[in-house]
This record gives sequence, C-alpha cells and structure tokens, in this order.
Amino acid sequence: MKKIKIFDTHTHDYFESFDSDREQMLADDFASGVKHKIQIGCDMDTSKQAIELAHTSNKMFATVGLHPCYVEENFENLDKSFIYFKEELEKNYKNNTTTKKIVAIGETGFDFYHNDSPKMREHQQISFEKHIELCKKYTLPIIIHTRNARNETLEFLQKNIITKNKEISGVIHCFSENAEFAKIVTTQFNFFISIGGAATYPKSHDIRDAILHTPIQYIVTETDSPYLAPQSVRGKRNQSKNIKEIIELIANIKKMNSEECSNILFENAKRLFNMN
Ligand SMILES: [Zn+2]
Repeated sequence: MKKIKIFDTHTHDYFESFDSDREQMLADDFASGVKHKIQIGCDMDTSKQAIELAHTSNKMFATVGLHPCYVEENFENLDKSFIYFKEELEKNYKNNTTTKKIVAIGETGFDFYHNDSPKMREHQQISFEKHIELCKKYTLPIIIHTRNARNETLEFLQKNIITKNKEISGVIHCFSENAEFAKIVTTQFNFFISIGGAATYPKSHDIRDAILHTPIQYIVTETDSPYLAPQSVRGKRNQSKNIKEIIELIANIKKMNSEECSNILFENAKRLFNMN
C-alpha cells in the first residue's frame, strides 16, 4: 500500500452539506492520508466558521476573505467585513506560532461569469485591493479565484504584486486556465496553481496541458469541497480524501510514482502557507 500524503489547500467543510456528519467525514479524511486542510472563508460569517472549525484540529487552518461573488451583497458594508478580518488577523498575529490559525487571505479575485456590469467589476476590484493590503500588512499569501476574467486578473497582479521584492505569494485556486496563463503566474509572480477535481474531467484538456508544462514545484492540490468532486465520484459531495485521484492524475502526467508526487505537492503547499 502506497503512502499518499494529502494537503487540501482549499475546502469549505463548514458548509451546511456537512452538518449531519462533519466529524465522521473529517475522521474519514484524516484516516485516508489527509494531513492538512485549509478552511477557506467566503465572507464575514463563513470566515468566522472557517476559523472555528480550524480550531478543532491541529491539522486544520483557515483564511479570511470575501469571495468575488459575495462582494455585491456586502458592498454597502464592506468596511464592516474588513474590520472583522483585521480583528481576527490581529489576534492571530499576537498568538504564538503553534496557535496561529489564519494562514492566508481570500478567497478574493474576479468572477465575471454571472454578472458583468461595470459597477460590479469596480466593486470586485476594490475588494480585491483591500485583500492585497491585508496580505502586505500581515505577510500572508493570497487565495485567488478567477472566472471569465483572465486578462483582468493578470492586469491586476501586474499592478498590485511587487514581484521583485517577492512581497506577496499566492495561489490561483481551482486552476481552470491554460498552460500559457500558468506560465505567466508561476514565472512572473512566483505564484502556485492549485489543481482540483476539474482536472480529471474528460473535457479538461487545457488544465492537463497546464499541469504538463508547469514545473511541479509550482503545483498544489485542493478539493473546493463540497464542490467539484473528481471524475470517479463526479456530482457527489466532495471531500479531501478524493484528492488521491488528482495526485494520481498529476503523477501520471509527470511520469512519477504517486507517493513521490504526493510528497512534492505536500511540501509545495507547506511553502505556500509558510508552514516550514
Ligand atoms: Zn472556494
């Protein structure tokens, strides 16, 4: 039996869909090779839930952030959200290393899939910039969501990430762009790309091509659980142990054995979140 080490860099285990059996699901994951999970906040309430859940296990960590699709409904009270994020980050900052739970900022970014009005674009941009400020202040990496916003995301990074000083590191979560995009974010910004279940779907040729052409040092894995279960369990509720299928895919593309591959991916995620 091969020993696969799983690091889920992006999950939402605090969602309602796990309310009936969350403890059991977590125990199942941890018994199946899952070593770490990052609970990702999408707004003020879910960031709170992410932090609370992370406190229940030394294997779990959290982020605070406002998902681009939640910006519009929160825009009137944007300051309120960011005051809360800062309070949590201040607490986190004062804690000693063993109790630090917030390891990144986000998810933030651009999502022009559902709505594409100029006003909405402007609001997402303002929120994105506020996340970057927090990253700089607290020296934390950024979790970026980008959908139907390829050029806008690259332009934003060019303006806001100072690559020469390596001021901010980060990850393009649920990577669904092509190899060229991956090359730009990894080489120009030293960012990681995070591969989830979508990479295993038959039509996802671009994602697999990006995996092939991106040095493995820049790749990490995620579920985006409960969403985006990999092909063998597609459509079902996702959970971190399913990352095994993604590791096997990456190992296959990279012509490595999956154990060795999982070790590298695991160390990459530790580097992303400064957990060394
Ligand atoms: Zn997410």
